[in-house]
Amino acid sequence: MIPTPTAKALTPDPFAQHPRGAPSGRGELEPMIEMRRIVKTYVNAAGEFPVLKGLDLTINRGEFVSIVGKSGSGKSTLLNMITGIDHPTDGLVVIGGKDIYTKVSESQRSKWRGRNLGIVFQFFQLLPMLTLLENVMLPMDYAEMYDFDERPARALELLKLVHLEKFANKLPALVSTGQQQSAAIARALACDPPLLVADEPTGNLDSRSADAIIDLFDELTKRGKTIVMVTHDPSLTARTTRNIIIFDGELIDETISRALPQLRHRHMLEMTKKAERVTLGPGETILGYDQPVERFYMIARGRVDVLTRSAWGERVSSLGRGEFFGEMELLRGGLSRACVRVAAEMPVELLTYPREAFMSIVNESPITAEAIHEIIARRLAEDPENGGA
Ligand code: ADP
Ligand code: MG
Repeated sequence: MIPTPTAKALTPDPFAQHPRGAPSGRGELEPMIEMRRIVKTYVNAAGEFPVLKGLDLTINRGEFVSIVGKSGSGKSTLLNMITGIDHPTDGLVVIGGKDIYTKVSESQRSKWRGRNLGIVFQFFQLLPMLTLLENVMLPMDYAEMYDFDERPARALELLKLVHLEKFANKLPALVSTGQQQSAAIARALACDPPLLVADEPTGNLDSRSADAIIDLFDELTKRGKTIVMVTHDPSLTARTTRNIIIFDGELIDETISRALPQLRHRHMLEMTKKAERVTLGPGETILGYDQPVERFYMIARGRVDVLTRSAWGERVSSLGRGEFFGEMELLRGGLSRACVRVAAEMPVELLTYPREAFMSIVNESPITAEAIHEIIARRLAEDPENGGA
């Protein structure tokens, strides 16, 4: 039986030796960005205005992360905390192992930024009187990186990477907007930073040019860059390795947005706050046959085996990150028709949500109810007792 869930942080991380259970799904788990309890409050004549309300975020090296949220939810403010363009009211930001705010002066931070960060803006911000090549060389001049004589060749190499070598000596106004953004990406790469941060980089582009920019980001992450991109366009988030939703200055748990993507952000945040987190060891039983089901279970990390009984014996299926169980009994009534236990090879981290709260959220979101009923129908069809495969 499941122990009483606790919301405490998991230390030490039982998944450390099990990289496949990690959110990125990749082997290496070196953090690139660590944000802890970040608060940003603006103060103006009308009083204090909280924009970021104590958020925590870890992004690992090599991840390609999209951040979405409605206008005014705090996306740009969040990025500005990472770039050091603005500073948090409270909390800790560590990038590439460096605390970028504590005892760091504005000029030290600006120097750090020039060497460690590439920034891409919605409106490109290329200097109109300089050629593309000169625009790309500019950050090398500022950061005093690379020998003076080396800079043109290096800039040309970068323009080649973004397929613009033929336009190196053109002014920005003479190339397309998509090409201007590609040039801005080459400029962001000028000092070979490990991290690229982009605020709505495709917001001013047609969908074909937007796709080309995402192709480029994809290529760069394959070369080891970490990319954080704010976007309005849901079609682009499918192409990133991780999607983060911000709602009203708070982050939505990624397990919830993955499990129930049709929910309104408001409901996702409510679930984020009310859900309980629990970690169970390999092989442990989570739900036995014919037990009452009181919670909705979502898998944050690791896998579970789901056993169902039939005339031919037990049938085993497996569920992983972002999948859920318990929904059938909660929505249709009855005792647990399956036995669910943690897979043999690694622990599992679950988010669990109480029956009543689950029912009320599903009742308020017909498209979520429909999506869950489709999953139930599919699961029943796979079950031999119900005439399935
Ligand atoms: P997003 O990028 O998600 O659209 P922003 O991070 O730009 O949102 O802004 C979040 C909220 O913070 C908005 O309500 C905005 O008006 C407010 N805000 C942003 N910058 C400032 C500022 N310098 N002073 C006061 N309020 C600000
Ligand atoms: Mg913005």
